[in-house]
Amino acid sequence: MDLRRRNTIRLDRFVSRLQARLPRFIAGRLAAELDSAFSRSTGTLEFMRSMDSFQAKVYARLLREYGAEPFSQLLALKLCNLAVARYHFLNRHSVLISKPFQVTVDPTNACQLGCPGCVHSLNPAYAGQFDWPRLTLSVDVFDRFMEQAGPFAFCGSLYNYGEPLLHKRFADFVRASKKYLLFTQTSTNLSMPLLDTDNIVASGLDRIVLSIDGTTQDAYERYRKKGRLELVLGNVRKLVASKKALGSPTPYLVWQFLTFKHNAHETDAAIRMARQLGVNEILVETPFGVEHDDPGIHAVTVKQRGTYTLIRWNGNWCSPERRKAIEQIAPQVRGLFEYSWEQRFHDTEGSADDESRPAAETCGWLYQNVTLDGASRIMPCCMSPDKSEKRLVFANFTDGEIVNLPMAKLARLAFANRQAYDGRIQSVPPSQRPYCAQCTESPRAYGLANVSGDIRAIDENHAVPRSVTWALTDWS
Ligand code: SF4
Repeated sequence: MDLRRRNTIRLDRFVSRLQARLPRFIAGRLAAELDSAFSRSTGTLEFMRSMDSFQAKVYARLLREYGAEPFSQLLALKLCNLAVARYHFLNRHSVLISKPFQVTVDPTNACQLGCPGCVHSLNPAYAGQFDWPRLTLSVDVFDRFMEQAGPFAFCGSLYNYGEPLLHKRFADFVRASKKYLLFTQTSTNLSMPLLDTDNIVASGLDRIVLSIDGTTQDAYERYRKKGRLELVLGNVRKLVASKKALGSPTPYLVWQFLTFKHNAHETDAAIRMARQLGVNEILVETPFGVEHDDPGIHAVTVKQRGTYTLIRWNGNWCSPERRKAIEQIAPQVRGLFEYSWEQRFHDTEGSADDESRPAAETCGWLYQNVTLDGASRIMPCCMSPDKSEKRLVFANFTDGEIVNLPMAKLARLAFANRQAYDGRIQSVPPSQRPYCAQCTESPRAYGLANVSGDIRAIDENHAVPRSVTWALTDWS
């Protein structure tokens, strides 16, 4: 997240917290209604009824402000879905009526480099443990996946373990995400004869992390094995030139410089070079240790660690043209908007019997995110499946369910009610028991602070009070 965006979000949170502490008549009726729905609710059905009322009021406000029916319906739907996801999370439900607010997608599982610690490591003994077929996602499958996930989501992270720009139609993935007003970001090594940078910029991509850990080929290739620095820097120049030629402030370019023993002495040179190249920001970061894969590579923390913003951007990624473009998917949006939350409750098998266990531990990924990899596999988080115990593949995407898959429900239940889970898995083969039940890792997710910033960008005129945004994004 760039500094400006982070500071704006901090200010938002401060104002919202203040509003949340004010008497209800000052904090606003909408925030009070939301608050009451969460505190008063005697069951899921009643909560869903209150969500129908909340969605209608949010929609009316948005329509008054923007005068655009499809846009107002879409944003009201996203906000209401966020409220329902929060409700499920707070109650540790296993069956969800909500959809994820983040999608993580690998356009391709392939990568041309072999960085230590990655599924693509050049060390066969290490890479061989992962269950990682090097397949490529078709745009058609992605379109169908987005038909389900896109209308509810706020962010699309178009990367995980593959090199996304190897996909010749990467820009089409961005366009399919922007169609539903998602903040889109990717991460790349840029070590390839690059592509059509004009097309990437014109696609509407909002943010790119550029992984460049060196200013000389010798230092760079120690970790980015098989990478070619000259090619990378040439591509950075091309991206900057395309942004200039198209008059586009996005994608926001983040040079990520991971520090190791072998490149720490190049940190200052990297900061100078980033400024000369015209990227927006350089992030000097300590990576995870990778000695377990390559004992010769040692992560270190340098005194320059931190974020350096070089070219500021106001973070307003959602333009009036983007809001207007929602007209192109108006029938789809209207259908989803008119499908009441009460009806969704009745149509979701198991939602009536799902017990509430608010005090139980859980994992936020299971309520917030859905991951689709290049092999069309659905997974819960950013971790990679392996061939032994990490059973993270919940299903193959086949146009059907993406939230209440049997393994996903079991994963949530494992946290919410261990006893019930232990009983349930007696009839489930080990290969279909989710790794989540034994997971102790907590990889960092996209984060609700970012969602707060996304709402602010989409609703630029603040038709929805910040106290509502705060309530929706405070899941503590
Ligand atoms: S594998 Fe771990 S981090 Fe991933 S969703 Fe399951 S519990 Fe959460």
